[in-house]
Amino acid sequence: MTSILVTGAAGFIGSHFVRHWVRRHPDDTVVALDALTYAGSRTNLADVADRVVFVHGDMGDEALVTGLLAEHRVGLVVNFAAESHNSLAVLDPARFFRTNVLGTQGLLDACRRAGVERFHHISTCEVYGDLPLDADEVFTETSPYRPRTPYNASKAAADHAVRAYHETYGLPVTLTNCANNYGSHQFPEKVLPLFATRALDGRALPVYASSANRREWIHVQDHCEAIETVLLKGRIGETYHVGTGVEASVDEIAALVLDELGLPESLKETVPDRPGHDRRYLLDSSRIRRELGWEPRIPFDSGVRETIRWYAAHRDWWQPLLGRSPVAEHAWHGAPRSAAAPA
Ligand code: NAD
Repeated sequence: MTSILVTGAAGFIGSHFVRHWVRRHPDDTVVALDALTYAGSRTNLADVADRVVFVHGDMGDEALVTGLLAEHRVGLVVNFAAESHNSLAVLDPARFFRTNVLGTQGLLDACRRAGVERFHHISTCEVYGDLPLDADEVFTETSPYRPRTPYNASKAAADHAVRAYHETYGLPVTLTNCANNYGSHQFPEKVLPLFATRALDGRALPVYASSANRREWIHVQDHCEAIETVLLKGRIGETYHVGTGVEASVDEIAALVLDELGLPESLKETVPDRPGHDRRYLLDSSRIRRELGWEPRIPFDSGVRETIRWYAAHRDWWQPLLGRSPVAEHAWHGAPRSAAAPA
């Protein structure tokens, strides 16, 4: 029995992880901290509301976090909290560096002072930059960081901060860098829920011109199980990649959505790429499989189709969110490049 602090707990992956942890560790105290930005919602935790201590606050608020760590005798900290949308980062990079870098650093300070048993940081495949579409190369845990967008760069900087707190202060950290997640409760700005909700409204699906650009996909439940595995069995100071090896292009995702909903291909509409649109990411996730025995379980095709059906059945969840996103996709077009997409 322990206490676990989950930051970003009201977001997409954080809320799935809280649900997973409550199910698997029913005696633990779960403290769910979230700043409730446009991307976070308490309704994501509605079914476990009586099982978690929800705190509305900023992970970078050291006094708040220090109080929570002491009050609940927190042993484990899992840091999901972040600004997570690449398109918003093109328009408002400062917000990403404030939250993802300085917010994480404030959280790290509170954790090292409190002497937590474990600080687990959630990172992304995107810190390594992108791969040519025809490359044989994959990213390993020792690949150099080459972020290309403000979001990627802010996540890369946070990873460096986490490792620095381990090396300098002995904070017991682990990190996971994960592929693209899909599943229920993902804010409808990300590609799969964007396409699903647009299609359900009979609207065009905006497919970037580089529609062959592809991502490695993982069901959010498989990601949550990987994080649990690393918390229980991972080596301190270590980084583990979490991926499936299953890739699909933006075009293929659009086609799957239209096929599942019985809609015509003509709903696809080509739009110009986002500045810095990465071509491809692919992780070598053999370390976590070999050393810790984790494996993804949910097949891509059935997992994606089930997710599309979830959006079809939960209009009440996503409809109120449509106006909440602070970024109008393609807002950078027409603006001078230096204003829309600072290097
Ligand atoms: P999300 O945007 O759905 O959720 C982020 C949550 O963090 C929101 O609830 C938001 O309110 C909260 N938050 C933002 N700033 C905060 C702060 N200062 N203090 C406390 N809470 C704050 O994002 P997500 O898709 O669930 O991603 C979660 C984490 O996983 C992020 O760190 C992201 O970089 C990482 N990740 C995501 C993916 C993916 O495909 N979605 C892949 C790999 C890694």
